Amino acid sequence: MRPLIWFRSDLRVHDNPALSGATHEATRGAVAVFVVCPRQWAEHDWAPVRVDFVLRCVAALSERLDRLGIALRIVAVPRFEGVAPALCAVAREHGCDALFFNRELEVNEARRDRAVRRAFEADGLAVHAFDDATMLPPGSVLTNEGKWYTVYTPFRRRFVETYLERGGLRAEPAPRRQAARVGESDVVPQRPGAFDGLSRPDLWPGGEDAGLGRLESFLETGITRYHEQRDAPALSGTSTLSPYLTSGVVSVGECLRRAVEADGHEPEPRPNRKSGPQTWINELIWREFYRHLLVGFPRLCMGTSFRREYDAIRWSANSEHLAAWQEGRTGVPIVDAAMRQLAQSGWMHNRCRMIAAMFLTKNLLIDWREGERYFMRHLVDGDLASNNGGWQWSASTGTDAAPYFRVFNPASQSKTHDPDGTYIRRFVPELAELDGDAIHEPWTLPALLRAGIGYPDPIVDLKASRDRAIEAFREVARA
Ligand SMILES: Cc1cc2nc3c(=O)[nH]c(=O)nc-3n(C[C@H](O)[C@H](O)[C@H](O)COP(=O)(O)OP(=O)(O)OC[C@H]3O[C@@H](n4cnc5c(N)ncnc54)[C@H](O)[C@@H]3O)c2cc1C
Repeated sequence: MRPLIWFRSDLRVHDNPALSGATHEATRGAVAVFVVCPRQWAEHDWAPVRVDFVLRCVAALSERLDRLGIALRIVAVPRFEGVAPALCAVAREHGCDALFFNRELEVNEARRDRAVRRAFEADGLAVHAFDDATMLPPGSVLTNEGKWYTVYTPFRRRFVETYLERGGLRAEPAPRRQAARVGESDVVPQRPGAFDGLSRPDLWPGGEDAGLGRLESFLETGITRYHEQRDAPALSGTSTLSPYLTSGVVSVGECLRRAVEADGHEPEPRPNRKSGPQTWINELIWREFYRHLLVGFPRLCMGTSFRREYDAIRWSANSEHLAAWQEGRTGVPIVDAAMRQLAQSGWMHNRCRMIAAMFLTKNLLIDWREGERYFMRHLVDGDLASNNGGWQWSASTGTDAAPYFRVFNPASQSKTHDPDGTYIRRFVPELAELDGDAIHEPWTLPALLRAGIGYPDPIVDLKASRDRAIEAFREVARA
């Protein structure tokens, strides 16, 4: 048997079910393929920094596969519609008789996969699909009534029970080296012109060596204090593994196993306990929750609010406010620092994602879909499930979301989580000379002093805009 292994958001050789399955079954060598889909990526709002990262990860994957005696073919088609014929052509060219891939969960991706399956089966080839995007397969964590969970805490409880019933997560066997290489690897292309923009290989080196190295160093130095440091954006208190997880460069199962091990070789994750590893496991389960939700409620991929009643909110169409938020010049330092961190690095600290998202959807009363799209277009870790989940949580339109009347005060958030203003100073240098509370709320300084700083006054009054948002939500909730 000669399998064709189709890589997508699983750009690694370790703990990869499709790769392991294919290489162990192969009897005549295996071939791998990656499809570049620029128009589709643009329609899915992939950020330039993400495309750059992904292609560097594909190049690193190609080297790894080469050591396993597997050539990586690269084909390019504009959109998903072209994928099935392109893959069938590669399979024919190399005399493959089966296709192996790991499932993707989003609606368009799943539709594309069904078309590919039909095309291969019509050509008489077998198709083997594996679960890899989550720790437990979507549909395996359901209520007693067989329904999808829409609230996080009971989901987590059942997740842990299911995990234990299954005896934990087993790592995939290492892929088998192929005796004879079939075909030659293609050169991984440069980033398509449509994605010219931010590139940060210094922050986001490509490939699984870099990703696994980051996991190791987090386990050595970060995980034990994660529960104390994870909300402080000035510290390197989180793993920064999100781009590696989104593109499948590091396996989420591997992360869970290592975190359970870091917790003193406990056989089970116990997310309620206040320890670094347990708190980190809790975040991995949030990721899991949002991914399962995407399968249970495919309309989440289609831009509707989870709580449909909130689609009736009369959002503001103030394009100047939207532009000020995007460009980090709202006059609210923590929000501006966050948006500038995103623009400069392609990443934003989780606490700041929540603050920036709540400011847009509540204080500016701008539709969460504007923010969701903007984040996607700039994040190196852009992930439909987590991004949509995070935005709908912040906008109070989602499942198990922040209640609409609990609006973050960005200045208090900043005083709590960036008390000495280190994070603000890093990204908003205009404010570097301010100290005390002034760095969090420069609008409290006398006008004469403010004029010399070159930093704008807040574009909205925090209290009045908060009251307006609560009223807008209350009106819809009452209706
Ligand atoms: C408005 C908003 C938008 C977001 N958009 C994305 C996105 O596009 N892609 C993305 O990966 N995450 C997103 N998140 C979740 C979270 O902010 C990032 O996963 C996290 O900041 C990544 O940093 P880290 O790798 O250091 O995380 P760590 O704190 O080290 O956590 C480890 C991993 O757990 C997962 N995780 C952590 N927190 C969350 C969370 N709240 N929800 C879901 N998964 C989580 C991530 O995979 C992360 O890499 C968003 C959150 C909000 C509030």
